[in-house]
Amino acid sequence: MPPLNVSELVARAREGQPRAVAKLISLVEDAHPRLREVAAALTPYTGNARVIGLTGPPGVGKSTSTSMLLSALRKDGKRVGVLAIDPSSPFSGGALLGDRIRMTEHATDPGVYIRSMATRGHLGGLSWATPQAVRVLDAAGFDVVLIETVGVGQSEVDVVRLADTTVVLLAPGMGDGIQAAKAGVLEIADAFVVNKSDRDGAEVVVRDLKQMISFARREIRGESWRQPIVQTVASRGEGAGELVSALNEHHDWLAAHGELAGRREHRAASEVEAIALRRLRAQLEDLHGGGHLSGLARRVVDRELDPYGAADALLDALRPGQ
Ligand code: GDP
Repeated sequence: MPPLNVSELVARAREGQPRAVAKLISLVEDAHPRLREVAAALTPYTGNARVIGLTGPPGVGKSTSTSMLLSALRKDGKRVGVLAIDPSSPFSGGALLGDRIRMTEHATDPGVYIRSMATRGHLGGLSWATPQAVRVLDAAGFDVVLIETVGVGQSEVDVVRLADTTVVLLAPGMGDGIQAAKAGVLEIADAFVVNKSDRDGAEVVVRDLKQMISFARREIRGESWRQPIVQTVASRGEGAGELVSALNEHHDWLAAHGELAGRREHRAASEVEAIALRRLRAQLEDLHGGGHLSGLARRVVDRELDPYGAADALLDALRPGQ
């Protein structure tokens, strides 16, 4: 393999070359040792992309809706990057079936970049990889980054919370899935999509949601954003315009209320924390390799030390400045 030329790679990504973007995201996924250099080179070019997260139970129509949204945003002239997040899958780099389907529609469009991310087994997992992948796409000049998750598990909820705007999708006829989604996602949703509105029961989902939203509003004082409910038939592209309008309104609301900076701070905090924790873990492993931990553990077993004292000693042994 030729040696890695970080500044050239970043320059090529900024020219919109998909292979350079792909390479940079792979470096993130692989926790490449030169990521520090990569991040330093990317950071001056960041801060422009709007980040939109989509989540909801499997089968609700997230892939279809993402594709619909992609087309609508492209019509508005936006360059769009998509990160499809699957915390449970060992596959990454565009190997998911959904990507192949979408790729056929958007494959030849230079204004679109779609990438699957699966970081099972990686230290720090998605909270490590996702914000850094967003940073790559932001610096590469994508106007919008869509983060789409496969399901509604905790790690997926954590990931979509990194967005400026979080969209929660529901659909009629989803049985328990909807109940589960409703229970955990009301507080993270900035907008709701009731997809499959061509099906019976869509109105019931909308009515239930309205009820929940008005109930929740009584709880959250001072919250002036009212989560919109957009009905869509993603498979036919219906409701795309309304969804884009709702997203734009939320973006304007965030900006007007100083919340956009807050969300971005949250994303940066998550990124910084994941980097710091990863380094801390690596240092601890070094100590472990050097026998520090097992030495301390032996002293705990021998009742010379209590576990908190041993943890203090372990932390004291971490070399500062690393
Ligand atoms: P995901 O698992 O949430 O990503 O869901 P998909 O986007 O893969 O969609 C699941 C299935 O629902 C697919 O067969 C879609 O064609 C179908 N689907 C998506 N949107 C709609 C819709 O608005 N109406 C109907 N009837 N089917 C839809």
